[in-house]
Amino acid sequence: MTARILVVDDLEANIRLLEARLSAEYYEVLTARDGPSGIAMAAAETPDIILLDVMMPGMDGFTVCRKLKDDPATRHIPVVLVTALDGRSDRVAGLEAGADDFLTKPIDDVMLFARVRSLTRLKAVMDELREREASGRRIGVIAGAAARLGGAGGRILVVDDNERQAERLAAELAIEHRPVVEADPDKALTAARGPVDLLIVNCAANNFDGLRLCAQIRSDEATRNLPLLAVVDFDQRPRLIKALEIGVNDLLARPVDPGELCARAKTQIRRKRYTDYLRSNLDQSLELAVTDQLTGLHNRRYMAGQLKALVERAGQGGEPVSLLAIDIDHFKKINDGYGHDVGDEVLCEFALRLASNVRAIDIPVRHGGEEFLVVMPDTRIEDAHRIAERIRLHVAGSPFRVAGGAEALDVTISIGVATSLPGEMKVDSLLKRADAAMYEAKASGRNRVIARAA
Ligand code: GH3
Ligand code: MG
Ligand code: MG
Repeated sequence: MTARILVVDDLEANIRLLEARLSAEYYEVLTARDGPSGIAMAAAETPDIILLDVMMPGMDGFTVCRKLKDDPATRHIPVVLVTALDGRSDRVAGLEAGADDFLTKPIDDVMLFARVRSLTRLKAVMDELREREASGRRIGVIAGAAARLGGAGGRILVVDDNERQAERLAAELAIEHRPVVEADPDKALTAARGPVDLLIVNCAANNFDGLRLCAQIRSDEATRNLPLLAVVDFDQRPRLIKALEIGVNDLLARPVDPGELCARAKTQIRRKRYTDYLRSNLDQSLELAVTDQLTGLHNRRYMAGQLKALVERAGQGGEPVSLLAIDIDHFKKINDGYGHDVGDEVLCEFALRLASNVRAIDIPVRHGGEEFLVVMPDTRIEDAHRIAERIRLHVAGSPFRVAGGAEALDVTISIGVATSLPGEMKVDSLLKRADAAMYEAKASGRNRVIARAA
């Protein structure tokens, strides 16, 4: 995933160095030589990430960061503060100014790219959410969810056999999150399948191979998408690189700096929450798009796509597709006699009986009102006729219990059956034949099945 990165630094040499490294990895680089022009460029260009030097004459990095985070137009852009090696107090001040992450000078390539990748992923899911927000869809839902999408209160599993280090990490994390420490990697693997927002693994543990655990976490279906932070020894470069190859989301160098720990934990937890939220929302809207709200059966739109493909396949010499057109008899009388709500109950009960009397490959559909369809792939007309008869009997065979069980209604249906013909490429003619057969069933007394071969 590539990104546009704005580098703000007063020293030409620093800018050149970062520009060269980032361009070599195909990132697009924008540059600014002081705070005010950095802010102007951020607003004009909306880069994906800003690398911001702390020490600059005039306006320093903290002030720039605060201004970026105060402006709604640039607030969402992750800011990485570039601090001096012993810049402990800088990091605290940076967090207070709203910085999202830190890099220490001299900048290490592996850490730089780990950071950029991690923040690019966060930015991508946040952008998607902002887009939906902007397009005005489900504003209420998004506003409600936004509160839950911060990076605080995360359930964090720290896997470490170094008791002192683990306790120190847990104590730092406990200020904002709910950390749990686990020294046994096998137990950690099981715990990670539960409700966990972030896993922090010590890859320099004495009693287990942290990298192996990371690899297991990545290959397990249940934990594949779990955010993973690896604690690594900075001088063990092959292991740093290996960790990234395995798919850890970010790295923490030992000894772990509390400011970095909290910033990185927050980034990972926020990304997970945004991703989970987007995914659940997408599932929901996909579901809404293909199902009928009252009965839970498939809707007309879904059926149209499926039927078209099946008819075309059958028309080109594939297996025939059959269609049942079903209409409830004298449904208007139910509405008139018992009210619209009871009418709805009958529709739902019918949908249940329908769905439980078709085969797994069949597609039961509410076509509209009290009219239903069943699309039957790979089905000849005799078989469709037999299944239709079974459905008819299951409806007429026992009364519908409605109004909380207070009423028992006798309900019957009329069914028309039709099957695709060799060379027939249009859905319409098939639908028309099934409809015509259904009307014939109505005309000849209702509560019956009529099949039309052609
Ligand atoms: P027939 O045996 O000829 O099919 O008679 P019918 O009364 O079932 O047919 P008609 O098409 O005249 O009436 C269907 C009624 O279904 C009319 C409409 O108000 C009602 N209806 C349509 N959609 C719904 C719904 O979602 N809920 C309820 N309760 N009624 C509905
Ligand atoms: Mg009817
Ligand atoms: Mg009708």
